[in-house]
Amino acid sequence: METTLRGVGVSHGVAIGEVRHMGTAVLEPPAKQIPAQEAEREQGRARQAVGAVAADLMARGNLAGGEAQAVLEAQAMMAQDPELMADVDRRIAVGSTAERAVYDAFAAYRELLAGAGEYLAGRVADLDDVRNRIVARLLGVPMPGVPDSDHPYVLVARDLAPADTALLDPSLVLGFVTEEGGPTSHSAILARALGVPAVVALPGAVELAEGTVVAVDGSTGEVFVHPSEEKKERLTAQAAERRAALAASTGPGATADGHKVPLLANVGGPADVPAAVAAGAEGVGLFRTEFLFLDDSENAPSEEKQVAAYRQVLEAFPEGRVVVRVLDAGADKPLAFLTPADEPNPALGVRGLRTLLDHPDVLLTQLTALAKAAEGLPVYLEVMAPMVADRTDARAFADACRAAGLRAKFGAMVEIPSAALRARSILQEVEFLSLGTNDLAQYTFAADRQVGAVSRLQDPWQPALLDLVALSAEAARAEGKSCGVCGEAASDPLLACVLTGLGVTSLSMGAASLPYVRATLAKFTLAQCERAAAAARAADSAEEARAAARGVLSGE
Ligand code: PEP
Ligand code: MG
Repeated sequence: METTLRGVGVSHGVAIGEVRHMGTAVLEPPAKQIPAQEAEREQGRARQAVGAVAADLMARGNLAGGEAQAVLEAQAMMAQDPELMADVDRRIAVGSTAERAVYDAFAAYRELLAGAGEYLAGRVADLDDVRNRIVARLLGVPMPGVPDSDHPYVLVARDLAPADTALLDPSLVLGFVTEEGGPTSHSAILARALGVPAVVALPGAVELAEGTVVAVDGSTGEVFVHPSEEKKERLTAQAAERRAALAASTGPGATADGHKVPLLANVGGPADVPAAVAAGAEGVGLFRTEFLFLDDSENAPSEEKQVAAYRQVLEAFPEGRVVVRVLDAGADKPLAFLTPADEPNPALGVRGLRTLLDHPDVLLTQLTALAKAAEGLPVYLEVMAPMVADRTDARAFADACRAAGLRAKFGAMVEIPSAALRARSILQEVEFLSLGTNDLAQYTFAADRQVGAVSRLQDPWQPALLDLVALSAEAARAEGKSCGVCGEAASDPLLACVLTGLGVTSLSMGAASLPYVRATLAKFTLAQCERAAAAARAADSAEEARAAARGVLSGE
């Protein structure tokens, strides 16, 4: 029978398919004794499982290629380590089950590795992953990590971290559903980057049985479990209608009366550029450069590697605007060689610009690489710093840009309430502001953006957040400078109209959201957007603000 679950819709569209769970941690198998005559059979089971897991890791390596292949092949070798296998055999011979013997033999090996110097200790996580795979196979439970499936599926997980999704095949993922996470969590950002529908903060998501058919509506946040044929047809038809309406909207972003609001794309690297260009992005409003730093947990990428990656993005937008954010490490994006390991509260610790000011060599290399990448190109390069708290931060960043000989506009992200409150003072040092509404919401409401239980407070319609947006935009207007939004708030079409009404000068979002925002903005005049913004700010909750803005814009 059809049932309906409700979460937070974070990426538009409809996905209908079978549930596949992101495999979770493997539990410790019970320590039960087996009779001696079963030992041989158990040893056979263990060898068969080890062989299958090693073969699977090799096959995945072949598919992935590059550095991922080297890691997966090393894991396959670990699985077949002769000493480890001899220990498994020994443990079974004295009465262990195959799964328990594997579990205990790996635990002993793990201790050895953990105490054997930094390099080998770093392999402990890989070893755990191999153990979990073998034990899962022996227990007949889903493999940890990305599901094994040849058929497209709806991915269900407690939450998704960037590392979980490195091997995700976008052609197989119809949509995402997560139990945790809010509108600004990585699951949401990733879903929008892939252009697949997604619902987050869905209570009961992890209890959905593997293989259950669900219909996910990423616009309304509804997930229909065992949808009727009629429901499936209706949802599919609605989605097709929406797509057709969107395809009809093209050109630069503007309100119905021609007030221009450049619509820019958020990208994570050169791989995201084709989708941004196809969606008609007028440039890049946020180039998250972290991706370049994720390959190697020990070192920063070389200047040459950075120049090549930046140039690919800059070349894609000749005459366009490209806003590059310098490395934002720490908190939810830790980097082993930069992020302190012992902070009690990493989100309030050394992250973003703070990390770079502590490691001026890393900042200088990045800024020098950007200067070289832009050489000879007609692009309008803008460079901004994440997590600017005050004028001192802004000045330090602008000084670093000047010292690197960078010919670009320097800007500051507004992600900390202090930066919004003192925006005019920050603008004495930099030429533009860009509102990172994801972190701005996190810090305004003291609500971790990764925790589903507080997603109500992460809602970008919260009037307090709108007040901070208005303060920043007013400050920029008074200084004759620009103030864009590059947080996820910009990707909500109705909210995009409200942000425009608050005085924001550009909107940057995942490419998949661009057509929705362009089409909605084109329906209303600037005066209507201003009235909707005033109505939203006068509300007392996110729901009321949304309803008030909708009321004004639909003429209710
Ligand atoms: C933000 O915080 O709104 C933002 C754009 O940065 P990120 O999501 O990468 O932290
Ligand atoms: Mg941020």
